[in-house]
Amino acid sequence: MSHQTMINKGNLIKYKADCENCFGLCCVALPFIKSADFAVDKDGGAPCKNLQSDFRCGIHEDLRGKGYKGCTVYECFGAGQKVSQFTYKGKDWRENKSTAKEMFHVFPIMQQLHEMLYYLQEAVNLVETRSIHSEIQKVLDETVALTKLNPVSLMNLNVSNHRAVVNELLLKTSELVRLKVKKDKNLQKKVGKGMDLIGAKLKGANLKGMSWRGTFLIAADLRESDLRYCDFIGSDLRDANLHGANLQGSIFLTQAQVNATEGDKYTKLPSHLNVPKHWLT
Ligand code: SF4
Repeated sequence: MSHQTMINKGNLIKYKADCENCFGLCCVALPFIKSADFAVDKDGGAPCKNLQSDFRCGIHEDLRGKGYKGCTVYECFGAGQKVSQFTYKGKDWRENKSTAKEMFHVFPIMQQLHEMLYYLQEAVNLVETRSIHSEIQKVLDETVALTKLNPVSLMNLNVSNHRAVVNELLLKTSELVRLKVKKDKNLQKKVGKGMDLIGAKLKGANLKGMSWRGTFLIAADLRESDLRYCDFIGSDLRDANLHGANLQGSIFLTQAQVNATEGDKYTKLPSHLNVPKHWLT
């Protein structure tokens, strides 16, 4: 296939969580509901009982075993360190009780902006998007500028409006990447975009070039399927079985999505993503 994607892994690393430089914001700001993903309920703004005084997780090595699988599939895209070190200049919420509440409001806004940055950076790295690189770069620069706003301006930001602008470019990117891929049209009709494919049996299927935008693929059997050059933005892959599947060249797939799946040493991922530890144990 002449169709090639080019990912510059270095550019995407800056949108990866750096917990050493974060005040454990996802462990405080966000609420949990007791479920298969979290062992207990927790209100937003209340520190998780496993968060230590140094902002490290006391059960980090065994989150899955202790019933906190949800923590292994959360991704802040680098928003945690941005809010901690840039927006609040290294002053944590324990010492600065007056700004703590504000910081917990700012964090999810920053998380959304950083998520957009991750996707925009991926889009601008692709050779297929060469014709729209300048448009993507412009919106990427605008998004970076938004992340540098002060806390009050961030809280007043209309994130939905900005997301709509970003989304248009991500859709164009998706089309450009999937354009040249020969697709199985019959199968596409059966498993088209946005369909509920929870538990779907798709072992060994030719799913090349599909858009899985916002699709529920929870616990889908995708073993040995061809998932190259797909768009995975917003798809729910929890417990999807990817043993032996090939996802190379696919776009808008995040580490958090991959961490939520089952796979093995034969699963082929896009080169900028890591094999989750639990696949190999
Ligand atoms: S279990 Fe650990 S990673 Fe999960 S919220 Fe609590 S402290 Fe954070």
